[in-house]
Amino acid sequence: MVEADDMFKTGEKVTTSGIYSYERHIESMTPFTCSPTPEEERLKLSEGDTFPAHSECKQGVIWKLVKRT
Ligand SMILES: [Zn+2]
Repeated sequence: MVEADDMFKTGEKVTTSGIYSYERHIESMTPFTCSPTPEEERLKLSEGDTFPAHSECKQGVIWKLVKRT
């Protein structure tokens, strides 16, 4: 079962509707200067959606479940 603090990657299917927050970039070796938008700090996703890339740099990121909805 998916629980709060579980992590997901860009491109994965959302299996649990909820509020997700940006955690970090997947490619942590690359020095990124971008930061998440306020929306990406609390992103509402529904079951069947795909975890998005970071809107600013289009790179894959890690999303963390804050709260199931
Ligand atoms: Zn980025």
